[in-house]
Amino acid sequence: MGIFDKFHSLAADQRALVDSGVNPFNVVIERLISATEAIVNGRRTILAGTNNYLGLTFDPQCIEAAKKAVQDQGTGTTGSRMANGTYVGHAALEREFADFFGYRSAIVFSTGYLANLGMLSVLAGQGDTILVDAHCHASIYDGCRMGSAEIIRFRHNNVIDLEKRLRRLGKKTANTMILVEGIYSMLGDRAPLADIVTLKQKYGAYLLVDEAHSLGVLGEHGRGLLEEAGVGNSMDFIIGTFSKSLGATGGFCVSNHPELDLIRYASRPYIFTASPAPPVIASTRTALKILETHPELRRRLWRNARHLYQGLDDMGFSLGPEISPIVAVRMPSIKQALVLWGNLLDRGVYVNLALPPATPDSASLIRCSVSAAHTQEQIDYICKAFSDLREGAIALDAQSTAVDSPLDVTPAF
Ligand code: PMP
Repeated sequence: MGIFDKFHSLAADQRALVDSGVNPFNVVIERLISATEAIVNGRRTILAGTNNYLGLTFDPQCIEAAKKAVQDQGTGTTGSRMANGTYVGHAALEREFADFFGYRSAIVFSTGYLANLGMLSVLAGQGDTILVDAHCHASIYDGCRMGSAEIIRFRHNNVIDLEKRLRRLGKKTANTMILVEGIYSMLGDRAPLADIVTLKQKYGAYLLVDEAHSLGVLGEHGRGLLEEAGVGNSMDFIIGTFSKSLGATGGFCVSNHPELDLIRYASRPYIFTASPAPPVIASTRTALKILETHPELRRRLWRNARHLYQGLDDMGFSLGPEISPIVAVRMPSIKQALVLWGNLLDRGVYVNLALPPATPDSASLIRCSVSAAHTQEQIDYICKAFSDLREGAIALDAQSTAVDSPLDVTPAF
């Protein structure tokens, strides 16, 4: 008996993966060539699962800003803002995020994950109710778990189910917050945000939207689904991350509620971790300006998204419900997903493997994410690889799943 007993089944699953010759959780990017290419397993590989929607990780202005910040301010802050103080860049970026959305104020967190933990652990208090979309990200669920509110899931993107639950809450809606995402991370579909705003107003509830995958991707200025849906002023809280379209690491929350500033004094994921490093803040400030002022990046991103989605759709793959820079391919079984994923990598195409229980409806997904930086030739190459490998993967017996989900110890989706 020992504390590692609970890992036995995980170890067996992990061994089975290694024996199957495919280990999707041990990919080493040996050398980066650009925002869309790297050397993986000694082979030149197209990166098609990075969430690098605008391709800004190699933007010369962002790199220059980061270099200057390292030279002027050092490599890290070595502590949290509560203990070690706020750098001028932290405060400037908070102002810039608030102005970008046209809201009162913002807080910057060290990751997007911590932004959800930091906000929800405090907001979801005793006596409050959280209504959360069933497909929301793990960071949203984890943040809720850190609080003490009652957590109720509603059916994904189902406003009828949401309204039923709001109605049942009666007077408690005044202490209720609805949690949704702009673009959902696994299937790439959007929330019916305008309808959700109507419900929030009708029932006097609060609304938090996580625009992690829609910031820089949707809306004329890249503000996300809230801009595209024409409800930019109606959010109580907007969460986002630097780790996708902004090409760095960090997170933020924007709000018009003056109480936002008080979160800093109560939020453990804000207080007890080091603040974002100077080069991260500097490149993110530059990326935010580029994101807002270069709509041609969004046009390129959507051209590429349409190209990949339509290419795979024409081949007969089962895809997410709408065209999006997240192109999710549903495979009939875990084994077939694993095999296709491994064969794509051997062909020089790196995508994400997403398996149950980390996926909605226990789907086995090959998840691609498209970038504005992909060329037409790269998208054509990805399509050709899928087309060539499709028959081989589909022909596998869906029942002979020698490999169980290797994710069995992760928390439910
Ligand atoms: N929210 C959503 C909806 C996400 O998909 C993710 C990451 N995939 C996060 C938050 C966490 O962001 P980060 O990786 O910056 O911690």
